[in-house]
Amino acid sequence: MASNVLRNLPSVNDLLETAPLRRLRENLSHNVVVGGVRTFLENVRRDVQDATSEMRMPEVGDLAERIAQWIIRQEESPLRPAVNATGILLHTGLGRAPLATEALDAIAAVAGGYATVELDVTTGARSHRRQAVEKLLQQLTGAEAALVVNNNAGATLLTLAALAAGKEVIVSRGQLIEIGGSYRLPEVMSASGARLREVGTTNKTRISDYASAINDSTGAILRVHTSNYIIAGFAEQPTLAEIVEAARPSQLPVIDDIGSGALIDFAQFGLTDEPIASESIRTGADVVLFSGDKLLGGPQCGIIVGRAALINKIEKHPLTRALRVDKVTLAALAATLRLYRDPEKAKVAIPLLSLLSTPAENLRNRAERLAPQMAAASAVVSHAEVVADHTYLGGGSVPTQQIPTVCIALTPAGRSVDDLATSLRAGRPCVLGRIQKDRLLLDLRSVLPSQDRMLVEAVQRLGEKAG
Ligand SMILES: *Cc1c(COP(=O)(O)O)cnc(C)c1O
Repeated sequence: MASNVLRNLPSVNDLLETAPLRRLRENLSHNVVVGGVRTFLENVRRDVQDATSEMRMPEVGDLAERIAQWIIRQEESPLRPAVNATGILLHTGLGRAPLATEALDAIAAVAGGYATVELDVTTGARSHRRQAVEKLLQQLTGAEAALVVNNNAGATLLTLAALAAGKEVIVSRGQLIEIGGSYRLPEVMSASGARLREVGTTNKTRISDYASAINDSTGAILRVHTSNYIIAGFAEQPTLAEIVEAARPSQLPVIDDIGSGALIDFAQFGLTDEPIASESIRTGADVVLFSGDKLLGGPQCGIIVGRAALINKIEKHPLTRALRVDKVTLAALAATLRLYRDPEKAKVAIPLLSLLSTPAENLRNRAERLAPQMAAASAVVSHAEVVADHTYLGGGSVPTQQIPTVCIALTPAGRSVDDLATSLRAGRPCVLGRIQKDRLLLDLRSVLPSQDRMLVEAVQRLGEKAG
C-alpha cells in the first residue's frame, strides 16, 4: 500500500512547474525552492513508510500549495522583532536593552563600509580598538582607562585570568552568584585559572574574614553585586571602602563587578541599591566591571574600567582578542555613552531610561486610548480593562524592587487565555504579554510608544481571523 502512494508521488520537476512553486522560485530563489521541495518529499516518504494506516496523497496542485506554504514558513527567521508587553524592561530572552536612535545611526554609518576601528587618522598609524570609547568611559566613570569586550561574563573571565590566574581570589560566600542560564561565578572563576577563596558565610561576611584570608598566594579581591537576589535579615557585608582599606597593605587589586552598569543614580527612578560605576571608582576599586546592555541601555558588551596599569595588563592577555567587540558594537556603545554626557538628554534619548522614567499617568492615558480599540476585536476579546499593577526591571535585577505600571487586561472570548497568548506570540510582530489569572496583561511599561499602533493591530488581526 505504501509503495502505491509513493509511486503516485509527483516528481520534483513536475512540482516545480506548478503555479505556486513557479511563483515562489521567481520571488525567493530557485535553489531554495528546489531544496525545499526535495526535503518536503523526503519527509512525506518517511511519513508514508512509518504510517500505520492508509495515507491519502493530495492532488498535485494542493500538494504544491502546501509545499509552498511550508517553504515560506521555513524561510522565516527565528530571530524577529517583538513587542515587549511583559513589563520586564531588561528581558534577556528579548535581547535586553533597545538601542537609542543615535546608536542606530552610528551603526548605519560604519556597518556597510570600512571604519577607523584601529587607525589613528592624524598619524595614519595603527591605534587601539578601545580608543573609540575610552575617553567617554573615562569622563563618565572617572577611571584612568577602559576596555570593552563581548559581555560582562567575558569581562569577568578576562580580568580574573589576566590578574589572578594561578592565584587565589577572595570572594564573600554571600556573593557567589548565578545569573540566569550558564553564568555561575565559581565556574567562571575556575575557567579563568584563578582559585576561588570563599570567606564568611552565606548571610554574614565581616571585613576581618577578608583580612585573615589574605596570604602570599592571594591575587585579588572580588566584590560582586548580588544583582538578582538579596540576603535580608541577620545579614552583613563589608562596604567597598572597607574592602579597599583591607587590600591596601598588600597592594592587592580590588575588582568590583557591579553587574548592571548604572552610569547615573537610578534612585531617581525608584530603584535603590544599584551601584554606580563612578562611585565605585571614587571609593577606590581598582577595576570595575559591568554590562553594556543592562541599565546602561546600550549594545551587548562587557565594560572594564580602572587603573591604567591594570587595564594595560588585561589588554595584553590573549583572551582579549578572543572576546573583542566589532565596529558595530563600538559605534553603538560610543553613541550611547555620548548621550550620557547630558543626563537629562539621556533620559529622553535612551529607550531604557525613557521607558523607566515614564510617569504612570502617561501609561494610563495610553492604556485608556488603546483598550477600547482592543475590545473592538470582540471575536477574541470579551473585555479590555485598564489596570494598575507593578513590574520589575528583570535581566538579573533585584526582585524586591517594584516598578509601578499600567496594563491593558484582556479577557479572552471563545478561547483560553493561553490560546490568546500563543496566537499573539506567533504573530508578526511577535507580541508578548503576561498571564495573570484568566487574563492576558499587556504591560505598557516596556512598550515603546511608537509600538502602540502595532499592539492594537496585532489584537485586531486576531479578531478578523477569528470573526
Ligand atoms: C548580569 C551580570 C553578569 C553577566 O553579565 P552579561 O553581560 O550578561 O554577561 C555578571 N555579573 C553580574 C553581577 C551581573 O549582574
